[in-house]
Amino acid sequence: MPPLGPRFSPGNLRAAADLVAMATRHAVVARSALPPEAIVRKPDGSIVTAVDVALQVLILTRLEAIFGEVTVIAEEDLSSIGGKAAAESHCRALLKTWGYEGGESGIVRALSIGGHAGPTRDVDACWVLDPIDGTQGYVDGDHWCPCLALLAYGTPVFAANGYPTVRGGQLLAGEAGGGAFWSPLEGGARTRARVSVAPLGADEMLRVVAPARATARQIEMRLEVGRSTGHPCTLVHSDSQAKYAHVIAGLADVAYSRRGGGPGKYVWDHAGAVLLAHEAGAWIGDTDGSAIDCSLGRRLEGNNAVICAARGIGPTIASALAERDRVEGVPRARSAGGIA
Ligand SMILES: [Mg+2]
Repeated sequence: MPPLGPRFSPGNLRAAADLVAMATRHAVVARSALPPEAIVRKPDGSIVTAVDVALQVLILTRLEAIFGEVTVIAEEDLSSIGGKAAAESHCRALLKTWGYEGGESGIVRALSIGGHAGPTRDVDACWVLDPIDGTQGYVDGDHWCPCLALLAYGTPVFAANGYPTVRGGQLLAGEAGGGAFWSPLEGGARTRARVSVAPLGADEMLRVVAPARATARQIEMRLEVGRSTGHPCTLVHSDSQAKYAHVIAGLADVAYSRRGGGPGKYVWDHAGAVLLAHEAGAWIGDTDGSAIDCSLGRRLEGNNAVICAARGIGPTIASALAERDRVEGVPRARSAGGIA
């Protein structure tokens, strides 16, 4: 893989991480005064807030000021809250509070440039941004996180995720080959993230992450998959990339996201955690043990699941989920021959 250009210097990447930390703090404050009319539905029916959109505008504008023009895959666009006057008005008010000076043209630009749709394996640099991963959790007072990753030729090489609900509020950031580091969102010393690989004791409880709004079937399935390791099993509730952060932080032993019979999962919901988990020493991969391929565009079309595990249980969980896919008739996702 050719090296990134000089604009992706360690100092500039540190500025990008600081930007995500600041954006996360802004979102925490904005959440405390979020009017109901600022929470709307996107055309696809999913929930979005004026904060999601304002954060995307702020982050992409500031990134462009630091790094210049870079290919972008971002979750929000002009249709996210477009035409919803009260939500748009709240978005503008937030941006003003945050010192944004890009004007209307800047807003339109930041919501127009994140639509890159094709594969990224031939793209030298591509930002992957989810301004708020877990918007439902944001509204409910549950887990959520702003997530930024940088792909170089389709492979995550930098990530910064803000986790206001994990370990008292932390940024987790890292570069490929350089480790992942926790830093308190409110400031303080950074510490290296290290995932435990010590095997579970014979009767030790395995902690599996389940969604806060899990269905009875999802709960039962997670308990069954967890018990396949031979250990008693309990559930830890988390959603968004915060579920992977729980494993990295030692608050859970395994988190996973299955594709099932649907389309590939969105790359912005996983790319950063894929790098950060790897750098922290977690087991991260698919049901057949292959790596997560982030190079295929907006979705992870090449993988059946993203599994993040500690304590050496990754391969056992992968086998259990592969068997689940077989029983449910879920086909293998296409292999693009470009496993990252
Ligand atoms: Mg989002």
